[in-house]
Amino acid sequence: MAQTIWIHKLADAKKTEADGMDYICEHLFQASTQTGKLTKTEGWNPFQNASAKDGTTYQALFCDSCAKNYNDGHVRMAKEPVLA
Ligand SMILES: [Zn+2]
Repeated sequence: MAQTIWIHKLADAKKTEADGMDYICEHLFQASTQTGKLTKTEGWNPFQNASAKDGTTYQALFCDSCAKNYNDGHVRMAKEPVLA
């Protein structure tokens, strides 16, 4: 059973920190809310076409765990606020 990967939108100012990616996974989001900035501690894996169930694709940065577990169609956008 494939795991859902939750992604969070990045504020424009944060996108440059994330190599221009628009979204980050839950784990990178949590780590960065604690430290106030994005770090590569959890891993750094850009996916140009991470896809959701409805076929929408996102440019998303995943930690090592999410990169390993990624399957097409299993990305979902989280309701939590944008990382600013
Ligand atoms: Zn992750």
